Amino acid sequence: MQLLQNKQRTLLILFILLFSNQVLAQQNVALPLVKSTIKGINIYGKTVDNQTRCQHWHSDLDVIAIKFKCCEKYYPCFSCHEEEADHEPQVWPKTEFDAKAILCGVCGTELTISEYQKSGNTCPKCTAAFNPGCSKHYHLYFETEDK
Ligand SMILES: [Zn+2]
Ligand SMILES: [Zn+2]
Ligand SMILES: [Zn+2]
Repeated sequence: MQLLQNKQRTLLILFILLFSNQVLAQQNVALPLVKSTIKGINIYGKTVDNQTRCQHWHSDLDVIAIKFKCCEKYYPCFSCHEEEADHEPQVWPKTEFDAKAILCGVCGTELTISEYQKSGNTCPKCTAAFNPGCSKHYHLYFETEDK
């Protein structure tokens, strides 16, 4: 009898495990969908083309995506992350400015944050022009002096 109870308990635990896995799988479906891929790198958010432009920012110069520190996913902009991610964004601390977190939508090169900030708004690889206006929004993505 004792043995049987143990067996039943094991089955119950198995059942719970299976069930919780299913819940996890369902949550995965609700995660933001990849709409655009550049050289094998997924871009999330409300992209409108294959150069990282999105519904919020889509001028000729809006050709970079930013990898968010919180989820390590590339989004075209802060608003895309805000509307599709299920969590608060985190900015990159200065100690991690050597992380590759900027994607050039034209050539698909990943730049580190320092490389990007030193780039003079031009892709060092393909010379595509980046939007200089992005620097006004650094604080949304990177740790800055004036906080
Ligand atoms: Zn995130
Ligand atoms: Zn956007
Ligand atoms: Zn480039």
